[in-house]
Amino acid sequence: MVESVILDKISKQREFIKNNPVISVKDRKKALKRLHTNIKEMTPEICDALYKDLSKSKIESYMTEVGVVLNEISYMLRRVKRFARKKRVHTPLSHFPAKSYRLPTAYGSVLVISPWNYPFLLSIQPIVDAISAGNSVILKPSVYSPNVSAVIDKLIKNTFDEGYVTTVLGGVAECTLLLDQDFDYIFYTGSTRVGEIVMKKAAEHFTPVTLEMGGKSPCIVDKTANIKLAARRIVFGKLLNAGQTCVAPDYIYCEESVKDKLVAELQREIVKQYSSDPLSNKDYPKMINQKQFDAMNRLIDRDKVLYGGKCDNGTLKIEPTIVSATFDDEVMQNEIFGPILPILTFSDITEAVEKINKLTHPLALYIFSSSAKNQSYVLAHCRFGGGCINDTIMHLANNRLGFGGIKHSGIGAYHGKVGFETFTHYRSILHTATWLDLPLRYQPFTKFKEKLIKMFLK
Ligand code: NAD
Repeated sequence: MVESVILDKISKQREFIKNNPVISVKDRKKALKRLHTNIKEMTPEICDALYKDLSKSKIESYMTEVGVVLNEISYMLRRVKRFARKKRVHTPLSHFPAKSYRLPTAYGSVLVISPWNYPFLLSIQPIVDAISAGNSVILKPSVYSPNVSAVIDKLIKNTFDEGYVTTVLGGVAECTLLLDQDFDYIFYTGSTRVGEIVMKKAAEHFTPVTLEMGGKSPCIVDKTANIKLAARRIVFGKLLNAGQTCVAPDYIYCEESVKDKLVAELQREIVKQYSSDPLSNKDYPKMINQKQFDAMNRLIDRDKVLYGGKCDNGTLKIEPTIVSATFDDEVMQNEIFGPILPILTFSDITEAVEKINKLTHPLALYIFSSSAKNQSYVLAHCRFGGGCINDTIMHLANNRLGFGGIKHSGIGAYHGKVGFETFTHYRSILHTATWLDLPLRYQPFTKFKEKLIKMFLK
């Protein structure tokens, strides 16, 4: 997109904010309802685009993208009025006569930058939270999911005034130009590498950020776990979107004594869920592009494959692949972001925690265990964004739980109420009455005033 068009969009947004300094809850709800209706109407088109970009099946597209967004809108429609109310807080006697409250106010103009892996969900869900909180939005979706970006562009144009919510299509150049501008808030989802660029750029304007990034999310399985169920839920979480999921279990870290049983169950589950020939399964997603396909293909150490390993260059699909690994292997150096599942072993939970803690804080952590002691040991000793006990990924699907990482995997969170709070600045207001003015705080100070001040401040 050419520079002048982008700058024109930004100035239209500034004009819109100038003319609408406060967007009423009624208008926010109208916008959310319009968005809900239009998404429902365009669902077949959105699913087609997701199939073209990622080979995602209709059901997977609805379950993990379209449906989640619709659900977030319905959640906000029911609660935004309550969230947007001013919150009265206690006023100390020393401030008498006065009242104090926290006034939720919008930041203003929000820049949303989204990635290609859940291109619809990760573009629209932040918009839902941002407009619920009363902001206007400029969205920059990923250039690597062009069909979804085009549908999003159409949806946004059909739904919103250009000054209110608009899209900027393009890649690094367009994103860099946007980051040079002075936004009131930046909400970014993508890799940690680019997250660092975004944070540095935001610092130039003292713009607050939320960074939703990734990392190597471990999946611990101890010998007390229900191995069959663990395998089913791990296969589900790992192979959604063929592993191109920020919270996918990146690697399995299991107790040595259950490894063989777990590998056997994982194989059985892969066949059960995706057939014995996933490469020909039309419901099994592909890698987003040749670069990602080649990277995955290179990452598979053929000498260590326990299951799978085949790749189809024609369809860009990679077979679900289980490999034996150690922390020194290449597959353990960076987030995998594909259907390769390394399996490492430990002999003691303390050893497992120690090794996990040598890596950067992950976005998610999963533990399969029926030992309450092991569960609480891991929760107490590991730092990570969020996760599940005896499940994978499903914590994301509860919008009463906020979602976000910690340090390298993210800063801040969103979804549901947490999302509303993220896009809200709470102004602290003390409203003092004028009918009485206690002289306590004014000069000249006297012994009596000193006594009173010390009575209040102790
Ligand atoms: P990416 O970092 O390559 O791109 C993300 C966005 O940043 C895109 O819109 C892109 O155009 C823009 N961008 C890329 N390079 C840029 C640059 N040099 N300057 C300015 N902008 C730039 O990420 P991706 O490959 O699209 O997504 C994969 C990553 O995102 C993975 O690490 C994954 O874990 C993470 N992710 C995190 C979440 C989450 O919710 N925490 C969700 C999905 C993906």
